Amino acid sequence: MLDRFLALFFPPKCPYCKKVIAFGESECEVCGKELPDFARSAKIPSGEICISPFVYDSLVRSAIINYKFYGQKYSADSFSKALANTVKSEYAGIDFDTVTAVPLSKQRLRQRGYNQSEIVAEKAAKILEIPYERLVKKIKNNREQHELSIEERKVNIKNVYALEDKISVSRKTILLIDDVMTTGYTLAECCRVLKDGGASAIYCAAIAVKSNS
Ligand SMILES: [Zn+2]
Repeated sequence: MLDRFLALFFPPKCPYCKKVIAFGESECEVCGKELPDFARSAKIPSGEICISPFVYDSLVRSAIINYKFYGQKYSADSFSKALANTVKSEYAGIDFDTVTAVPLSKQRLRQRGYNQSEIVAEKAAKILEIPYERLVKKIKNNREQHELSIEERKVNIKNVYALEDKISVSRKTILLIDDVMTTGYTLAECCRVLKDGGASAIYCAAIAVKSNS
């Protein structure tokens, strides 16, 4: 009810073309037809699987850039629905205990004001009816992975994450969410921390996957 009321003043918009859309829609009809039916999985360097509803290209690429760097937060609705649908189909039958997201450093969080992966993860968790928890924190403010070469990324991401204080992941099956997967080193490093903490299984999902070629 409150959502509908707010929609009068802040009508939902298509994340891809920014046109106003009907309440409850995730994107406009035109963009919806252009979005690739992509859903695929890839292995990350630590051996876990990462699934994504989208490839990081054209419409999706500009929508994610606007979401991440230009405060276009309403896109989180569309991204989380697509992500939740992909989780339902690709990870069918997996009994997740918890959903978590790749964290930002405190400094980056202050600059941006929000963790783009966490907003999508929380919304997806709600759709999937799985609790959301902060499990991993970033303890080093390293350089942004997307500014670096593949070789540099591997080194840059080492030992930058740790388990959150007073959190137990022992014997948990975890869904770990990131925004864009490129090399998979970021997800792999978070998986390592969770596995060291005793997690029994980790499955990853990203809004989009960037092809390395
Ligand atoms: Zn559109």
